[in-house]
Order: sequence, then C-alpha cells, then structure tokens
Amino acid sequence: MDYHVHNKLLYHLRKLCVPQGERVNVIREAHTSLILGHFGVGKTIAQLQRYYYWPHMNEIVSRYVKGCYMCATRNPSNRKLGLYTPLPTPSHPWENISTNFVWGLLMFRKGHDYLYVVVDHFKKMCVLMPCKKQVTTEQTAKMLFHNVWVHFGLPTSIISYRYSRFIGKFSVTALAKIPCNKS
Ligand SMILES: [Zn+2]
Repeated sequence: MDYHVHNKLLYHLRKLCVPQGERVNVIREAHTSLILGHFGVGKTIAQLQRYYYWPHMNEIVSRYVKGCYMCATRNPSNRKLGLYTPLPTPSHPWENISTNFVWGLLMFRKGHDYLYVVVDHFKKMCVLMPCKKQVTTEQTAKMLFHNVWVHFGLPTSIISYRYSRFIGKFSVTALAKIPCNKS
C-alpha cells in the first residue's frame, strides 16, 4: 500500500501529501533561500521530493519556477534584448554585493520587523541588519555605510533585488555619506 495515515496526516511512500492549497507555500519555501537566492527547477524539485508528495509535482514546480518574477529578472539567461549585462566575476570579497529586504520573520528587539541583507558575491558572506518596515533611503544608506563599507570597502557594484528604482536614489545618498577628505 503506497499511502498511509499517521497523526491524521496522509503519507505517500513516507512522503507527506501536501493539500492543494498549501503547495504554493511549500514550493516557495523550497525555491527560495535567503543567502543563496533562488534555486532552479531541478534543485527545487529535489528539495521537495525529499519530504513531500503530490501528483504532477515536477510539472507544477517547473511552472512555478519558470513563472517566478525574481528569477526572470535576475537570471541572465532569462533576460532578453540585452537590457541587462551579466555581472562581472568578482576577484575579491565585497567587490560586488547584492542587497535585499526580507520580512515575514519574527519580530526582533526594538520592534524591528525587517531584515536588510547584504551578500558578498565572492565568498557568499552576508551581513544582516534588523530594521523597520518604514526604513528610509537615508537610513538604509547609513546601515550599509556603517556595517559594510566601513569594514570591507567600497563595492564596485550593488544589486538591489527588490527595489531597482530605490537603488538609484539610494546610491547617490549613500555616496554622499562617504567622507572624501580623509587622508
Ligand atoms: Zn525564483
């Protein structure tokens, strides 16, 4: 018998059967990694197959990943018409960084409910900065300056995954904060 019930949950060959309404949440969780970004179809399916089962899983996951907006705008192979150029390969740490806001986490101390995440592309090191949802451009620039640039130097490129419009204003503000008259 392929199916069995344990603690009121249905299993198929020891894999938990996920109800239809929950599948998208489970896929999103398997597809997205805070540090490593978004996984491809194969890796997402492999992650899910370790614990879960539902009919036509491969097809549904493949459709989800192919329709992922973040992947479509980030993955160079998905970009069309040369609107974006591939990132240069970094030769040392903190030369190319990406920044992102993450929310939906537990509330931190001081009522911080957002996390500003900066990832170095060279060694995949990351700096996490708790902040509030209402964080301003100036505050973000300050966080980046004090927690990243002061320690690791000025990056040559910054990618902001969630706020591509935001980064333009942000970079100008952030650059304005760099002391230029230091000897
Ligand atoms: Zn994605």
